[in-house]
Amino acid sequence: MSKIIDLIKAKEEGSKPFISIEFFPPRTADGVKNLYARMDRMKESINPLFSDVTWGAGGSTAELTLDIAEQLSTTGHVANMHMTCTNLEKGGDPKAAVRGALETAKKNGINNIVALRGDPAAGQEEWKAADGGFTCALDLVEYMTENFGSEFGISVAGYPEGHPNAISEVEDPSSMSEAEKARSSMEGGKVYTCRDADYKKEMDYLKKKIDAGADFIITQMFFDTKVFGTFVKDCKTWGINCPVVPGLMCINAYAGFVKMTGFCKTRVPAELRAKMDSIKDDPDAVKAFGIEFGIQMCQDLTEIGVEVLHFYTLNLEKTTYGILKGLGYEVKGSAWARVGDQVKTANGVGVVKSIESDGSASIEFEGETPTATFKKEEYSKVF
Ligand SMILES: Cc1cc2nc3c(=O)[nH]c(=O)nc-3n(C[C@H](O)[C@H](O)[C@H](O)COP(=O)(O)OP(=O)(O)OC[C@H]3O[C@@H](n4cnc5c(N)ncnc54)[C@H](O)[C@@H]3O)c2cc1C
Repeated sequence: MSKIIDLIKAKEEGSKPFISIEFFPPRTADGVKNLYARMDRMKESINPLFSDVTWGAGGSTAELTLDIAEQLSTTGHVANMHMTCTNLEKGGDPKAAVRGALETAKKNGINNIVALRGDPAAGQEEWKAADGGFTCALDLVEYMTENFGSEFGISVAGYPEGHPNAISEVEDPSSMSEAEKARSSMEGGKVYTCRDADYKKEMDYLKKKIDAGADFIITQMFFDTKVFGTFVKDCKTWGINCPVVPGLMCINAYAGFVKMTGFCKTRVPAELRAKMDSIKDDPDAVKAFGIEFGIQMCQDLTEIGVEVLHFYTLNLEKTTYGILKGLGYEVKGSAWARVGDQVKTANGVGVVKSIESDGSASIEFEGETPTATFKKEEYSKVF
């Protein structure tokens, strides 16, 4: 079973960054079925280096997350399972949830874990540790290395703009240092930033997580690649020499973008906000721009020298494929087009009406060209 850090270290000098993807546990049985089909398609289409599955806020999806991670692992993905401290009791009890979850993971062939503190449970404002439980991700990393030695590859979260708890409102923006300005965000006419003293605490703490046994960092989403570049340099200054994998939020919809950036107090550069506001009523334009913007970000990150581009897919495919195609990655799509998808053929662009088990598809064209059947290698999905 591969540890992700070993896979990352095998990257050849000058080669393109690896791709990794992230899913979250769906709420319904149908959603899970769809996700499993999507996981197969994405493995086939872009062959990610590893694939994450999140652990629902408040520990709400523990069992399902374990199931999805197992499914990932048995279908050829290198699974990177998120695990949080929430609702997990620490201590000698062999039935303790954390040990149980780690044992199950191990038994199911999952040996890469993202160790996190966790978001507050739904309806709670602040995160609270369970009595006698873990208080932060560092506790979880220490517990894993103390109890499981080097059996698990461990990654942890990093925050280029500071953790949301360490971001505060700035009464007097003229008091901000250059670094504070560079990290700052605007929300409802107010200015927020992670003050230099708080940022230092964040970096000191991140160093502790790595020193305790974490192999690499996956970052919170961001939209300003300069802030990420500074964070990577700061990691080096702090003696954190492991890979820093940028977490890329795919822009698929205006409402989701506003909600997530508000929740995480994410810095949204003025041009990006203006552009998003100007197209907010046109979902197709938002999707197309999401791809264009993602391509630009990935190009900047490739120049910075990242080893991996990690896509928060939101359980969707098209934006990730669009960005990767724009970057010149191979995206295999033909066998995975579905009924209703637009596909390219020698006869032009058509719509899939049905697909046989061997992958051949009946494709309908507008105008004079009638419906025709194509073998799976004769058509490819339009992204
Ligand atoms: C890549 C990524 C994946 C995520 N996946 C999930 C998920 O699957 N499920 C989920 O619920 N949430 C997830 N989150 C969100 C995450 O749980 C929250 O951001 C949470 O508030 C903090 O988690 P953490 O692991 O970063 O916490 P920690 O590393 O424990 O840090 C949290 C904050 O507390 C401070 N802190 C904690 N302990 C100390 C200490 N001893 N000394 C000084 N400072 C301390 C840190 O500086 C930081 O500000 C993810 C976040 C990221 C970036």
